[in-house]
Amino acid sequence: MTRDQVGILLPLPIAAPFDYRVPVGMTLAAGDWVEVPFGPRQMRGVVWRGPGETARAPGAAPTGTIDPEKLKSVAHHFGIPPLSMATRRFVDWVANYTLSPPGSVLRMVMRAGDGLSTPRAIPAVQRVTPAPSAIRMTPKREQVLAACGAAPMAIKTLSEKSGASAAVIRGLVTAGALTPVSLDPDAPFTPPDLARSGKDLSSAQAGAVAEIAERLSPTAPGQDDLAPKPILIDGVTGSGKTEVYLEAARLALANDPAAQVLILLPEIGLTLPFLNRIEARFGAAPAAWHSDIPAAARRRVWRRVLDGQVRLVVGARSALFLPFQNLQMIIVDEEHDPAYKQEDGVIYHGRDMAVARGSLDRIPIVLASATPALETMVNALDDRYYRLTLTQRFGAATLPTIDLIDLRETPPSISNGNQHQDKTSSPTRQPSWIAPPLADAISETLVRHEQTLLFLNRRGYAPLTICRKCGHRMMAPDSDTCLVEHRFENRLICHHTGYSISKPKACPQCNAIDSLAACGPGVERIADEVRRRWPHAHTEILSSDRTQGAGTAKALLEAMRAGEIDILVATQAAAKGHNFPGLTLVGVIDADMGLSGGDLRAAERTYQLLAQVAGRAGRADKPGRALIQTHQPAAPVLQALIDGDRDRFLAIEAEGRMAMLFPPFGRLAAILLRGKNENQVRTAAQNLRQAAPRTDGIEIWGPAPAPLYRLNGEVRMRMLVRARRDLNLQAYLRDWTGALKMPGAVRRTIDIDPYSFM
Ligand code: ADP
Repeated sequence: MTRDQVGILLPLPIAAPFDYRVPVGMTLAAGDWVEVPFGPRQMRGVVWRGPGETARAPGAAPTGTIDPEKLKSVAHHFGIPPLSMATRRFVDWVANYTLSPPGSVLRMVMRAGDGLSTPRAIPAVQRVTPAPSAIRMTPKREQVLAACGAAPMAIKTLSEKSGASAAVIRGLVTAGALTPVSLDPDAPFTPPDLARSGKDLSSAQAGAVAEIAERLSPTAPGQDDLAPKPILIDGVTGSGKTEVYLEAARLALANDPAAQVLILLPEIGLTLPFLNRIEARFGAAPAAWHSDIPAAARRRVWRRVLDGQVRLVVGARSALFLPFQNLQMIIVDEEHDPAYKQEDGVIYHGRDMAVARGSLDRIPIVLASATPALETMVNALDDRYYRLTLTQRFGAATLPTIDLIDLRETPPSISNGNQHQDKTSSPTRQPSWIAPPLADAISETLVRHEQTLLFLNRRGYAPLTICRKCGHRMMAPDSDTCLVEHRFENRLICHHTGYSISKPKACPQCNAIDSLAACGPGVERIADEVRRRWPHAHTEILSSDRTQGAGTAKALLEAMRAGEIDILVATQAAAKGHNFPGLTLVGVIDADMGLSGGDLRAAERTYQLLAQVAGRAGRADKPGRALIQTHQPAAPVLQALIDGDRDRFLAIEAEGRMAMLFPPFGRLAAILLRGKNENQVRTAAQNLRQAAPRTDGIEIWGPAPAPLYRLNGEVRMRMLVRARRDLNLQAYLRDWTGALKMPGAVRRTIDIDPYSFM
């Protein structure tokens, strides 16, 4: 590569940067943001190889030998800070690890809309003081003036806050009560106040913080040449882990005035109370990053992270790909949470990528969980991670007692509807899912004016709809999935693809009228039962349904916290990161649901979820209890749960995985082939299998039809590759699959460390 050429990585699924010429008068270096002609259009990208550099990402295909005369020139150089070397190295590493094109990983970095362009100023207004006297007032105008404080406010925000239209606001400008100003759309973030003291720590918390501080000091062992070991804060729910890691963040920020710290949470935990808690701790709101933030806020965070002006980011897994300048610590809360795994596009595990970044940049990674993943525990036990334990809840709070309800002994009885119902209507026999011991506990809790959470991890009304006449099951037309009834909307919905229809009046198979019957419960149906049996209790449903909307969920969580709801029927949307001071009873409707999943982490996930849900009870100084309904009370996972013996459970799980050489004792990759033409997909799968090189220590299972064989009109074939831990699985896969072209209509994805086996 000559001195006037650069390699530009574009956010496209292409294996290597493209060569471009640097026009006379432009100076470029690696990391610079540029725009280049690409085919008929202009594209934005990053200088991956500066002038004269030849280094390439490992595994990237060499770029073609294009006649330098024919090279196109870089069109534009954006005058914003370059993408840091550390972030570029991370992009290459993730691409290499996940077998994705680096451009696809860069795309995740660039996913901030038009983060590169100069933003337009935001039209705003400010109150004129003293207010002019002779203004004609209307109720709307009064609302606007009341909502507008002394500081300038965007017209849009003011309109939302006051409920008045922009025209009313403009009217006030004309009348001279408001003056037009403009706001910086990328307003700087107030830096965290590091001198502000946090809560007084308990001795256990202070001990944990002291150990972290010791490991952060520049003289800590291994600090000079090796990456510091990731730190695991292993503490029961409510033990005060959050306070401990916020202190760790403070230490990292205080060590270096330009340091940036990232706190990762599963998306669902990124709620306003959590952000408020961080704001209260540091006297300034952190930059928040998740899938729901509006485009303008997204852009502002992105730009300020790139400028190094954001010091503390709280985000979902995708925040890992923000363009940090000087990332000095990543905290992964609820590190065991399966939501850290991204299943589309670049398939990666957020926690694992955080640990990788820690090792690349030699920065500390802090993992926190009450139920660490088996992988993490094995790392801790093998001394690759440093483990800190918090065994007691903070303050006077105690852990809930957990008991099982054996549904074989005390099954829920069919109820005759509500005894208070109108005498003229005939009582209908309604199926029940709440067994007598749980029902008694709910009644007792209501009497004490305390709150109950009923947990069922299933959205909608009923998971299955069957025709009583002919037995026809309502399935999605082009997928092997059952349609789930959502009664509020009166629709049948496929939870995998989003396909939905109105619930038909007649069976589509036999045309019998009103013969379609709901089978099994979802949260809506449990709430129906609760309302029938405890008609005076205030009952609400919380699930992650899109239709419910984020606003509703927020309001419900707030009402629950405020003690306004007596019984909350919820999916895992309520399981995580919420503190409900008046909640003393948690009832798990069906603990068996996850046990039969058949994937390698089914029992572990059940343990984590149930421990988490049970952990919601009795957070404040009221003792809590959890009652778990099951048909399999002898299942080791449930026994471990009632004994509070997590480590024994993990030991049993570990033994099972070790025997199978499953992660973390061996390595796994899943290969999925899919396409509309069944023959083509099957043949491609066979051909791929046959091309697999034989290697000691690598085993391949399949191809076999995926458990979800038809999805969205495509058929899906799977293979599972297991490798000994010391083997380079990626190199093997690259060797094997790289050489083989798939027919155009067959798509192949490779999932390293798969979590989904569907
Ligand atoms: P975890 O993250 O382990 O679930 P949290 O940090 O959320 O635990 O703490 C549980 C509860 O105890 C929270 O309500 C928190 O405000 C409170 N808490 C934790 N540590 C302290 C402390 N040092 N002083 C006062 N309250 C605390």
